[in-house]
Amino acid sequence: MTETLASDGPPNGDVGVGDEGDAPPQAAATMAAATGRRIRMRPNDTCGPRAIRRAGMIAAMPVRLSVVLLLVLGAACRSAAPLPTPAAVPAPPAATMPDSIRWVRDAAEYRAATLQAYRLATSAVEAAAAGRQAGSWAVVLDADETVLNNVTYQMERAQQGLPYSSESWAAWVRRREATPIPGAAAFLGRVRALGGRIAIVTNRLQSECADTAAVFERHQLAHDALLCRPDAGPSDKNPRFDAVASGRTPASATPVEIIAFVGDNILDFPRLSQQSALAGEAALAPFGTRFILLPNPMYGSWQPR
Ligand SMILES: [Mg+2]
Repeated sequence: MTETLASDGPPNGDVGVGDEGDAPPQAAATMAAATGRRIRMRPNDTCGPRAIRRAGMIAAMPVRLSVVLLLVLGAACRSAAPLPTPAAVPAPPAATMPDSIRWVRDAAEYRAATLQAYRLATSAVEAAAAGRQAGSWAVVLDADETVLNNVTYQMERAQQGLPYSSESWAAWVRRREATPIPGAAAFLGRVRALGGRIAIVTNRLQSECADTAAVFERHQLAHDALLCRPDAGPSDKNPRFDAVASGRTPASATPVEIIAFVGDNILDFPRLSQQSALAGEAALAPFGTRFILLPNPMYGSWQPR
């Protein structure tokens, strides 16, 4: 490469900072100020063999000027650590990813936990369904983080440093890229084989219901009713639980007994809330038999509002 530190003094009066790259830009500015000469310098100029040759050239200058230049060059060499490039500035995604999301995405424990929950649900339903007539009973499941895994959405928001928003969530739903939670498909298939009806009660909005149904269809997730939240309606699921039980949904035109609820949020279970934790263990007694809980450390009604 060519010399890149030049004065505009005498013709061909380059001072001679070389292409080994020497002084960072701030050092060049200092040098210009000291000499009163305009200096043109490559961004990557640093210390090196060319700088040593340059030192020899400086020695041939008038004494005051060469002393100033050598002092400035020495300071530049001491501080010539590589400057960060724009590409190196953004933090790597893995470093900023919350452990809660990484756990759901990567941990063997997460997969084991969901499989364990669904095996428990299967055993409970098999026991409860014994002796019941086909079509006389039902199970109710939540959708997100119960049947559908949305960790990709969570990961993308974390990578962007952005929180949940209804707009970004709606865009995610339209992509139809949620995947089945491990164990869910087998459980739903088993319920259907046993003669149970399956109602999915979700707080995805009614306007998001068609895209949600498409995901269920794509992954062959058996169900009889997909009950979304009315767009301007309440998030409380209890009225929809009651509608299933009383035979007012596509799950059944006649009353059915709901023998199991499966969810990842305490609000996926009838008449429970975060306050239920304060009511003693008796309030949570159905868990492990009629109520089956899946892990979700990423979000939920446990978070402060
Ligand atoms: Mg959920």
